[in-house]
Amino acid sequence: MEKPFLTVVVPCYNEEEVLSESVTQLTNIIKKLVMNDSISNNSQIMFVDDGSKDRTWELIKQYSESHEHVSGLKLSRNYGHQGALLAGLTAAHEHSDCVVSIDADLQDDVNAIIEFMEKYHEGFDVVYGVRDKRDTDTFFKRNSALTFYKIMSKLGVNMVPNHADYRLLSKRALTEFLRYKEENMFIRGIVPLLGFKSTKVYYNRNERFAGESKYPLKKMLLFAVDGITSFSVAPIRLLLVIGSITFLVGVVLGIYAIVQKIIGGVVPGWTSLIVSIWLLGGVQLIGMGVLGEYIGKIFRQVKERPRFTIEDNVFEMKCEKNKNNESLV
Ligand code: UDP
Ligand code: MG
Repeated sequence: MEKPFLTVVVPCYNEEEVLSESVTQLTNIIKKLVMNDSISNNSQIMFVDDGSKDRTWELIKQYSESHEHVSGLKLSRNYGHQGALLAGLTAAHEHSDCVVSIDADLQDDVNAIIEFMEKYHEGFDVVYGVRDKRDTDTFFKRNSALTFYKIMSKLGVNMVPNHADYRLLSKRALTEFLRYKEENMFIRGIVPLLGFKSTKVYYNRNERFAGESKYPLKKMLLFAVDGITSFSVAPIRLLLVIGSITFLVGVVLGIYAIVQKIIGGVVPGWTSLIVSIWLLGGVQLIGMGVLGEYIGKIFRQVKERPRFTIEDNVFEMKCEKNKNNESLV
Protein backbone atom coordinates (compact mmCIF):
# COMPACT_ATOMS: atom_id res chain seq x y z
CA MET A 1 0.00 0.00 0.00
CA GLU A 2 1.19 3.46 -0.74
CA LYS A 3 2.36 5.48 2.23
CA PRO A 4 0.12 8.41 3.20
CA PHE A 5 1.03 11.96 2.28
CA LEU A 6 0.90 13.96 5.53
CA THR A 7 0.61 17.74 5.59
CA VAL A 8 1.20 19.55 8.87
CA VAL A 9 -0.61 22.89 8.74
CA VAL A 10 0.90 25.61 10.94
CA PRO A 11 -0.77 29.04 11.14
CA CYS A 12 1.77 31.78 11.85
CA TYR A 13 1.18 35.40 12.77
CA ASN A 14 4.32 37.41 13.56
CA GLU A 15 6.20 34.29 14.58
CA GLU A 16 9.74 35.14 13.38
CA GLU A 17 11.12 34.35 16.83
CA VAL A 18 9.82 30.80 17.02
CA LEU A 19 9.95 29.76 13.38
CA SER A 20 13.45 28.30 13.26
CA GLU A 21 12.77 26.11 16.28
CA SER A 22 9.39 25.00 14.88
CA VAL A 23 11.05 24.07 11.61
CA THR A 24 13.71 22.03 13.43
CA GLN A 25 11.31 20.17 15.69
CA LEU A 26 8.65 19.48 13.08
CA THR A 27 11.22 18.41 10.47
CA ASN A 28 12.64 15.93 12.95
CA ILE A 29 9.21 14.43 13.48
CA ILE A 30 8.59 14.18 9.73
CA LYS A 31 11.98 12.51 9.23
CA LYS A 32 11.24 10.03 12.00
CA LEU A 33 7.88 9.18 10.48
CA VAL A 34 9.40 8.77 7.02
CA MET A 35 12.04 6.43 8.47
CA ASN A 36 9.37 4.34 10.16
CA ASP A 37 7.56 4.03 6.82
CA SER A 38 4.60 5.70 8.45
CA ILE A 39 4.29 8.51 5.88
CA SER A 40 5.36 9.28 2.33
CA ASN A 41 8.67 11.03 1.75
CA ASN A 42 6.83 13.87 -0.01
CA SER A 43 5.03 14.86 3.18
CA GLN A 44 5.05 18.57 3.94
CA ILE A 45 5.00 21.04 6.78
CA MET A 46 2.92 23.95 5.51
CA PHE A 47 3.44 27.25 7.31
CA VAL A 48 0.55 29.62 6.68
CA ASP A 49 1.63 33.22 6.99
CA ASP A 50 -1.45 35.03 8.23
CA GLY A 51 -0.51 38.50 7.02
CA SER A 52 2.40 38.89 9.44
CA LYS A 53 4.04 42.28 9.78
CA ASP A 54 7.47 40.86 10.61
CA ARG A 55 9.85 38.65 8.61
CA THR A 56 7.74 35.50 8.96
CA TRP A 57 7.06 35.05 5.23
CA GLU A 58 10.67 35.70 4.19
CA LEU A 59 11.77 33.06 6.65
CA ILE A 60 9.16 30.58 5.44
CA LYS A 61 10.39 31.04 1.88
CA GLN A 62 13.99 30.57 2.91
CA TYR A 63 13.22 27.40 4.84
CA SER A 64 11.19 25.98 1.99
CA GLU A 65 14.24 26.31 -0.23
CA SER A 66 16.65 24.77 2.25
CA HIS A 67 14.36 22.06 3.71
CA GLU A 68 12.69 19.48 1.51
CA HIS A 69 9.76 19.00 3.88
CA VAL A 70 9.01 22.68 4.44
CA SER A 71 6.71 24.83 2.33
CA GLY A 72 4.09 27.46 2.91
CA LEU A 73 1.30 29.80 1.96
CA LYS A 74 1.02 33.52 2.27
CA LEU A 75 -2.40 35.04 2.90
CA SER A 76 -3.10 38.48 1.48
CA ARG A 77 -3.78 39.93 4.96
CA ASN A 78 -4.46 38.89 8.55
CA TYR A 79 -7.50 36.58 8.65
CA GLY A 80 -7.12 35.38 12.23
CA HIS A 81 -6.12 31.96 13.55
CA GLN A 82 -9.24 30.15 12.32
CA GLY A 83 -9.06 31.76 8.88
CA ALA A 84 -5.40 30.83 8.49
CA LEU A 85 -6.12 27.27 9.53
CA LEU A 86 -9.00 27.03 7.09
CA ALA A 87 -6.84 28.38 4.26
CA GLY A 88 -4.11 25.86 5.06
CA LEU A 89 -6.48 22.92 5.27
CA THR A 90 -8.17 23.91 2.01
CA ALA A 91 -4.87 24.23 0.19
CA ALA A 92 -3.60 20.93 1.62
CA HIS A 93 -6.71 18.95 0.74
CA GLU A 94 -5.96 17.89 -2.83
CA HIS A 95 -2.49 16.48 -2.19
CA SER A 96 -2.81 15.10 1.33
CA ASP A 97 -4.02 11.77 2.65
CA CYS A 98 -4.13 13.20 6.14
CA VAL A 99 -3.51 16.57 7.77
CA VAL A 100 -2.37 17.63 11.21
CA SER A 101 -2.94 21.17 12.45
CA ILE A 102 -0.69 22.65 15.12
CA ASP A 103 0.26 26.11 16.43
CA ALA A 104 3.63 27.58 15.50
CA ASP A 105 4.64 28.35 19.08
CA LEU A 106 5.45 24.73 20.08
CA GLN A 107 3.08 24.82 23.06
CA ASP A 108 1.69 21.52 21.84
CA ASP A 109 4.08 18.59 22.11
CA VAL A 110 5.12 17.76 18.53
CA ASN A 111 5.86 14.15 19.52
CA ALA A 112 2.14 13.51 19.74
CA ILE A 113 2.09 13.58 15.91
CA ILE A 114 3.80 10.17 15.95
CA GLU A 115 0.92 8.82 18.03
CA PHE A 116 -1.58 10.60 15.77
CA MET A 117 -0.14 8.67 12.83
CA GLU A 118 -0.33 5.38 14.70
CA LYS A 119 -4.01 6.04 15.31
CA TYR A 120 -4.46 6.98 11.66
CA HIS A 121 -2.98 3.65 10.60
CA GLU A 122 -5.32 1.90 13.02
CA GLY A 123 -8.16 3.41 10.99
CA PHE A 124 -9.19 6.54 12.89
CA ASP A 125 -10.37 9.48 10.79
CA VAL A 126 -10.19 12.11 13.53
CA VAL A 127 -7.53 12.21 16.24
CA TYR A 128 -7.86 14.92 18.91
CA GLY A 129 -4.79 16.17 20.75
CA VAL A 130 -5.92 16.74 24.34
CA ARG A 131 -3.88 18.61 26.96
CA ASP A 132 -3.16 16.55 30.01
CA LYS A 133 -2.43 19.43 32.34
CA ARG A 134 -2.75 23.14 31.85
CA ASP A 135 -0.37 24.19 34.59
CA THR A 136 1.70 26.33 32.21
CA ASP A 137 -1.33 28.48 31.40
CA THR A 138 -2.18 31.30 33.77
CA PHE A 139 -4.83 30.69 36.44
CA PHE A 140 -7.15 33.01 34.55
CA LYS A 141 -6.74 31.37 31.14
CA ARG A 142 -7.22 27.89 32.57
CA ASN A 143 -10.39 28.74 34.46
CA SER A 144 -11.92 30.91 31.79
CA ALA A 145 -11.38 28.07 29.32
CA LEU A 146 -13.00 25.55 31.69
CA THR A 147 -16.01 27.83 32.21
CA PHE A 148 -16.30 28.21 28.46
CA TYR A 149 -16.39 24.43 27.89
CA LYS A 150 -19.04 24.12 30.61
CA ILE A 151 -21.24 26.83 29.08
CA MET A 152 -20.84 25.31 25.64
CA SER A 153 -21.89 21.85 26.77
CA LYS A 154 -24.87 23.32 28.67
CA LEU A 155 -25.88 25.00 25.42
CA GLY A 156 -25.74 21.65 23.70
CA VAL A 157 -22.51 22.13 21.74
CA ASN A 158 -20.44 19.00 21.66
CA MET A 159 -16.78 19.93 22.18
CA VAL A 160 -13.77 17.98 23.33
CA PRO A 161 -12.57 19.63 26.58
CA ASN A 162 -8.95 20.77 26.66
CA HIS A 163 -8.59 20.21 22.95
CA ALA A 164 -7.56 23.22 20.90
CA ASP A 165 -6.77 23.03 17.23
CA TYR A 166 -4.15 20.29 17.49
CA ARG A 167 -5.60 17.32 15.63
CA LEU A 168 -5.33 14.91 12.72
CA LEU A 169 -7.96 14.60 10.03
CA SER A 170 -8.02 11.90 7.37
CA LYS A 171 -8.70 12.88 3.79
CA ARG A 172 -12.34 11.93 3.92
CA ALA A 173 -12.88 13.77 7.22
CA LEU A 174 -11.23 16.84 5.68
CA THR A 175 -13.41 16.55 2.57
CA GLU A 176 -16.51 16.58 4.74
CA PHE A 177 -15.12 19.39 6.87
CA LEU A 178 -14.63 21.59 3.81
CA ARG A 179 -18.30 21.21 2.95
CA TYR A 180 -19.11 23.45 5.92
CA LYS A 181 -19.45 26.81 4.27
CA GLU A 182 -20.18 29.01 7.25
CA GLU A 183 -18.53 32.37 7.18
CA ASN A 184 -17.51 32.21 10.81
CA MET A 185 -15.78 28.88 11.16
CA PHE A 186 -15.54 27.77 14.78
CA ILE A 187 -13.42 24.82 13.78
CA ARG A 188 -13.22 22.92 17.06
CA GLY A 189 -17.02 22.91 17.26
CA ILE A 190 -17.42 21.61 13.73
CA VAL A 191 -15.00 18.69 13.83
CA PRO A 192 -17.11 16.64 16.30
CA LEU A 193 -20.09 17.10 13.95
CA LEU A 194 -18.25 15.25 11.17
CA GLY A 195 -18.76 11.90 12.81
CA PHE A 196 -16.37 9.12 11.69
CA LYS A 197 -14.23 7.06 14.02
CA SER A 198 -12.37 9.35 16.40
CA THR A 199 -10.00 9.05 19.33
CA LYS A 200 -7.90 11.19 21.66
CA VAL A 201 -4.18 11.42 22.27
CA TYR A 202 -3.01 13.06 25.51
CA TYR A 203 0.05 15.31 25.73
CA ASN A 204 1.54 17.97 27.99
CA ARG A 205 1.20 21.58 27.03
CA ASN A 206 4.37 23.67 27.33
CA GLU A 207 5.09 27.37 27.61
CA ARG A 208 5.25 29.33 24.40
CA PHE A 209 8.75 28.80 22.97
CA ALA A 210 9.27 32.52 22.29
CA GLY A 211 7.31 35.67 21.62
CA GLU A 212 3.99 36.44 23.23
CA SER A 213 0.45 35.19 22.88
CA LYS A 214 -1.44 36.46 19.86
CA TYR A 215 -4.69 35.87 21.75
CA PRO A 216 -5.18 38.77 24.13
CA LEU A 217 -8.28 38.85 26.35
CA LYS A 218 -10.35 40.77 23.82
CA LYS A 219 -9.74 38.21 21.06
CA MET A 220 -10.42 35.37 23.52
CA LEU A 221 -13.81 36.81 24.51
CA LEU A 222 -14.77 37.44 20.88
CA PHE A 223 -13.78 33.86 20.07
CA ALA A 224 -16.03 32.58 22.89
CA VAL A 225 -19.02 34.69 21.82
CA ASP A 226 -18.48 33.53 18.24
CA GLY A 227 -18.39 29.93 19.36
CA ILE A 228 -21.64 30.24 21.26
CA THR A 229 -23.60 32.18 18.67
CA SER A 230 -22.35 30.00 15.79
CA PHE A 231 -23.63 26.87 17.39
CA SER A 232 -26.54 27.61 19.61
CA VAL A 233 -29.78 29.56 19.59
CA ALA A 234 -30.08 29.09 23.35
CA PRO A 235 -29.34 32.79 24.04
CA ILE A 236 -32.35 33.79 21.94
CA ARG A 237 -34.51 31.31 23.83
CA LEU A 238 -33.18 32.56 27.14
CA LEU A 239 -34.28 36.01 26.07
CA LEU A 240 -37.80 34.78 25.55
CA VAL A 241 -37.80 33.22 29.03
CA ILE A 242 -36.46 36.39 30.69
CA GLY A 243 -38.95 38.46 28.72
CA SER A 244 -41.87 36.25 29.78
CA ILE A 245 -40.88 36.33 33.44
CA THR A 246 -40.53 40.11 33.33
CA PHE A 247 -43.92 40.37 31.70
CA LEU A 248 -45.56 38.19 34.38
CA VAL A 249 -43.96 40.21 37.16
CA GLY A 250 -45.28 43.33 35.42
CA VAL A 251 -48.84 41.94 35.34
CA VAL A 252 -48.76 41.02 39.04
CA LEU A 253 -47.35 44.44 39.94
CA GLY A 254 -50.01 46.11 37.79
CA ILE A 255 -52.83 44.31 39.62
CA TYR A 256 -51.22 45.17 42.94
CA ALA A 257 -50.97 48.84 41.95
CA ILE A 258 -54.60 49.02 40.87
CA VAL A 259 -55.75 47.37 44.10
CA GLN A 260 -53.66 49.82 46.13
CA LYS A 261 -55.14 52.73 44.15
CA ILE A 262 -58.69 51.53 44.88
CA ILE A 263 -57.96 51.04 48.57
CA GLY A 264 -56.39 54.48 48.51
CA GLY A 265 -53.00 53.70 49.97
CA VAL A 266 -50.90 55.19 47.13
CA VAL A 267 -47.68 57.01 47.76
CA PRO A 268 -46.27 58.82 44.70
CA GLY A 269 -44.44 55.91 43.09
CA TRP A 270 -41.17 57.40 41.97
CA THR A 271 -39.07 54.48 43.23
CA SER A 272 -41.03 51.73 41.55
CA LEU A 273 -41.23 53.72 38.34
CA ILE A 274 -37.58 54.43 38.08
CA VAL A 275 -36.68 50.85 39.00
CA SER A 276 -38.91 49.36 36.36
CA ILE A 277 -37.75 51.77 33.67
CA TRP A 278 -34.15 50.81 34.21
CA LEU A 279 -34.86 47.13 34.58
CA LEU A 280 -36.97 46.90 31.46
CA GLY A 281 -34.62 49.12 29.51
CA GLY A 282 -31.79 46.80 30.46
CA VAL A 283 -33.64 43.66 29.47
CA GLN A 284 -34.59 45.19 26.14
CA LEU A 285 -31.09 46.30 25.38
CA ILE A 286 -29.68 42.86 26.19
CA GLY A 287 -32.32 41.38 23.95
CA MET A 288 -31.48 43.65 21.07
CA GLY A 289 -27.81 42.92 21.51
CA VAL A 290 -28.33 39.17 21.35
CA LEU A 291 -30.54 39.47 18.28
CA GLY A 292 -28.03 41.80 16.68
CA GLU A 293 -25.31 39.20 17.17
CA TYR A 294 -27.28 36.66 15.14
CA ILE A 295 -28.45 39.14 12.53
CA GLY A 296 -24.85 40.23 12.09
CA LYS A 297 -23.95 36.60 11.39
CA ILE A 298 -26.70 36.34 8.79
CA PHE A 299 -25.59 39.63 7.26
CA ARG A 300 -22.04 38.39 6.85
CA GLN A 301 -23.15 35.01 5.59
CA VAL A 302 -25.46 36.25 2.83
CA LYS A 303 -22.65 38.23 1.30
CA GLU A 304 -20.70 35.03 0.72
CA ARG A 305 -17.38 36.78 0.73
CA PRO A 306 -14.28 34.63 0.33
CA ARG A 307 -13.08 33.47 3.72
CA PHE A 308 -9.42 33.96 2.84
CA THR A 309 -7.22 34.93 -0.09
CA ILE A 310 -3.95 33.23 -0.90
CA GLU A 311 -1.28 35.55 -2.21
CA ASP A 312 1.58 33.13 -2.67
CA ASN A 313 1.63 29.33 -2.61
CA VAL A 314 4.97 27.57 -2.22
CA PHE A 315 3.26 24.36 -1.11
CA GLU A 316 1.56 23.81 -4.45
CA MET A 317 4.79 24.47 -6.34
CA LYS A 318 6.60 21.96 -4.21
CA CYS A 319 3.97 19.25 -4.60
CA GLU A 320 4.00 19.68 -8.37
CA LYS A 321 7.79 19.51 -8.43
CA ASN A 322 7.81 16.32 -6.36
CA LYS A 323 5.25 14.76 -8.65
CA ASN A 324 7.29 15.57 -11.75
CA ASN A 325 10.45 14.20 -10.16
CA GLU A 326 8.62 10.98 -9.36
CA SER A 327 7.37 10.59 -12.90
CA LEU A 328 10.93 11.09 -14.17
CA VAL A 329 12.27 8.25 -12.01
N1 UDP B 1 -2.30 33.10 14.82
C1 UDP B 1 -2.65 33.39 13.50
N2 UDP B 1 -3.37 34.54 13.24
C2 UDP B 1 -3.74 35.41 14.24
C3 UDP B 1 -3.40 35.07 15.58
C4 UDP B 1 -2.70 33.91 15.83
O1 UDP B 1 -2.35 32.64 12.58
O2 UDP B 1 -4.36 36.43 13.94
C5 UDP B 1 -1.54 31.85 15.09
C6 UDP B 1 -0.28 32.03 15.93
O3 UDP B 1 0.83 32.36 15.13
C7 UDP B 1 -0.14 30.67 16.58
C8 UDP B 1 -1.58 30.21 16.74
O4 UDP B 1 -2.36 31.00 15.85
O5 UDP B 1 0.54 29.74 15.74
C9 UDP B 1 -2.08 30.34 18.16
O6 UDP B 1 -1.84 31.63 18.66
P1 UDP B 1 -1.20 31.89 20.09
O7 UDP B 1 -0.17 30.88 20.41
O8 UDP B 1 -0.76 33.31 20.14
O9 UDP B 1 -2.49 31.69 21.03
P2 UDP B 1 -2.51 31.05 22.52
O10 UDP B 1 -1.74 29.78 22.48
O11 UDP B 1 -1.86 32.06 23.39
O12 UDP B 1 -3.96 30.86 22.79
MG1 MG C 1 0.08 29.53 21.87
